[in-house]
Amino acid sequence: MTSRLEDALLLTVTTTHVPATDLGYLLHKNPARAQSFELSFGQAHVFYPEATAERCTAALLLDVDPVALVRDRKGPSGEGGALEQYVNDRPYVASSFMSVALSRLFNAALAGRSQERPALAQQALPLVARLSVLPCRGGEAFLRRLLEPLGYQVSVTPHVLDETVPEWGPSRYFTVTLEAHTRVSELLTHLYVLIPVFDDDKHYWVSDDEVEKLLRHGEGWLAAHPEREFITRRYLRHQKSLAREALEQLIGEGHSSTEEQERERVRTEQEASLEAKLSLNDQRLRAVVDVLQAEGVSRVVDLGCGEGKLLRELLKERRFTDILGMDVSWRSLELATERLHLDRMSELQRKRIQLIHGSLMYRDRRLAGYQAATVIEVVEHLDPPRLAAFERVLFEFARPERVVLTTPNAEYNVRFESLPEGKFRHADHRFEWTRPEFEAWAGALAERFGYAVRFAPVGPVDDTVGAPTQMAVFSR
Ligand code: SAH
Repeated sequence: MTSRLEDALLLTVTTTHVPATDLGYLLHKNPARAQSFELSFGQAHVFYPEATAERCTAALLLDVDPVALVRDRKGPSGEGGALEQYVNDRPYVASSFMSVALSRLFNAALAGRSQERPALAQQALPLVARLSVLPCRGGEAFLRRLLEPLGYQVSVTPHVLDETVPEWGPSRYFTVTLEAHTRVSELLTHLYVLIPVFDDDKHYWVSDDEVEKLLRHGEGWLAAHPEREFITRRYLRHQKSLAREALEQLIGEGHSSTEEQERERVRTEQEASLEAKLSLNDQRLRAVVDVLQAEGVSRVVDLGCGEGKLLRELLKERRFTDILGMDVSWRSLELATERLHLDRMSELQRKRIQLIHGSLMYRDRRLAGYQAATVIEVVEHLDPPRLAAFERVLFEFARPERVVLTTPNAEYNVRFESLPEGKFRHADHRFEWTRPEFEAWAGALAERFGYAVRFAPVGPVDDTVGAPTQMAVFSR
């Protein structure tokens, strides 16, 4: 490896947000002085190579002590022969030591806390991070596959194994620069999780609490990352049972087998045929589109979009200029892509719509900034504890101005002749609410998060049992 010594194990973070020296408040490290910290594997130094109002760079330099490393290395299998213990690349590269150092030195910054500049900590800033020597199994393409979906502009310089012997070819070391408009906490958590994933050789033993750590630091981005399975598996060092546990928690009920998804599709069809006589589905979609139009909405996210029935209606109306569909089921998104002919759409049309894979259980920054969210026949699929998570994801974090939500009215079920008494309309429904139950839930939710709510029936209204579908419209 031929990188210069002063390049070793260096992470720098630069901002040009004015005043740039506020970076010191976000990192809880004063730009005016250098500081050193003792860690179990050596020393970490934090200093600012530049700190002006226009541009400020914080640097984290790790000085890993190979002897301390061996002393502290207590793998369960007593791994490593004598030679391997002393001659390894660990001291020189941004391996998981960097992650450990990040969490020890920048714990508050990772969590998005800043005593002096709390608002700035929540704000997206122009940021550039540079890792001087990042080992990556899988090469540049892999680096890009992990970083680009997170919104980074990535530049990568590969290093040759030895400049004096070019025929040895490329090494697995890269200098990597990431650029994005993002929060400091996001940048740091991405690095924290991904550095060991690139390296694929965590220096400490992976245990159960790693699952918890991964989920905590992955909140808001990992569940929706196209490479999340890969990231999870590598982060947990290929321990299948841990990885499976993490994935299940990450994507909740979405991590079902293809078989399960197929069963779900059949059940959805059964429900559809039950309601077909009324063409209830059409009436429901009409009712939702009418509300959105009346409210003057043009940017809308459809949560649990399924095969894209509502998305198709939204595309027909030109007023909806920015449409996002999200679902936890890949299969549904594939069907939506087909049914909406996304691949054959004109470029102009294509700009109006986007489909993303994600779960309603996890805070997701891609859901922010929409005027309205629609949640059509989705909540009844969520287990009660998950319903509580969903409530916060939507009303506390995404916080659109309007939410249009529909769910079956259980009272109406007696009017479906083919539905046995006491059964739900769809085998996957976890519950179906009566009108008072729905109104109590939605009313409490509105009050808790500062929304007003009104209710409307959808479909033919029966004097005693009401309409087959109930709709709530929340306004902030
Ligand atoms: N809104 C659509 C689909 C309703 S079926 C329509 O009206 O046609 C319920 C949908 O919610 C399914 O597509 C299912 O995959 C999705 N879903 C269930 N749990 C979810 C979760 N945790 N996150 C996101 N989508 C979820």
